[in-house]
Amino acid sequence: MRVDVVTIFPDYLAALDLSLVGKARKAGLLDLRVHDLRDWTTDRHRTVDDTPFGGGAGMVMRPDVWGRALDDVLGSADDDAPGHLVVPTPSGEVFTQRHAEALAGEEHVVVACGRYEGIDARVVDRARAAGHRVSEFSIGDYVLNGGEVAALVMIEAFGRLLPGVVGNPHSLVEESHGAAGLLEYPVYTKPPAWEGLDVPDVLLSGHHARIERWRRDQALARTAARRPDMIAALDVAGLDKADLTV
Ligand code: SAM
Repeated sequence: MRVDVVTIFPDYLAALDLSLVGKARKAGLLDLRVHDLRDWTTDRHRTVDDTPFGGGAGMVMRPDVWGRALDDVLGSADDDAPGHLVVPTPSGEVFTQRHAEALAGEEHVVVACGRYEGIDARVVDRARAAGHRVSEFSIGDYVLNGGEVAALVMIEAFGRLLPGVVGNPHSLVEESHGAAGLLEYPVYTKPPAWEGLDVPDVLLSGHHARIERWRRDQALARTAARRPDMIAALDVAGLDKADLTV
């Protein structure tokens, strides 16, 4: 999979050299390229922003600079593997595991990181009019200074789903926000007793079926307590009799 990130702070993306995503890059599973938006400026000050039409505070990123950058990086919608443009913005659809799964199936994703008051709205309009798929995603209901942190979040979320990135693919199956639609059960490791706190007996029992039942009950109870919206969205057909007693 190829991922291009366009930003005025390329150094911000250095974290993508670390951990599993960094390993995926080194292993050639993820072809990640970070670009400096200022490389597409034409003035000697390398200007990427200007004052907003209609007045108001702050600056807006210029469409002409972004247009040139995206023409180069996103390519044409008629290319063999046309890029999917992802624009982080607090006014976008909230990014979820479903979006991460969908992006993990793409061949080419381009992330356009805004700064200041954001990117001139014509940039997204033009990309859509040219036939590109465009997703405007928010990573949550708060405002960051720029799209770089959102890019890191989304790339890590879909990058770890690429085949071969997470060593044991089974560890992806039972996770929070997975196919079961639940939060994960609590997890424990050695030592079995620590500062007067004991690991639940069932986990030391070696009884596979009971452990599975306990984990399922914990996941249901935890989800009900913390995310009643997720319980409300559960498909009742996917529940068994024992679930209904939790
Ligand atoms: N004026 C914009 C608004 O009120 O919607 C906020 C602009 S914000 C200061 C600058 C950039 O940070 C945005 O263009 C976007 O790239 C990024 N950003 C801020 N909050 C975000 C969020 N919750 N999710 C995704 N990107 C965000």
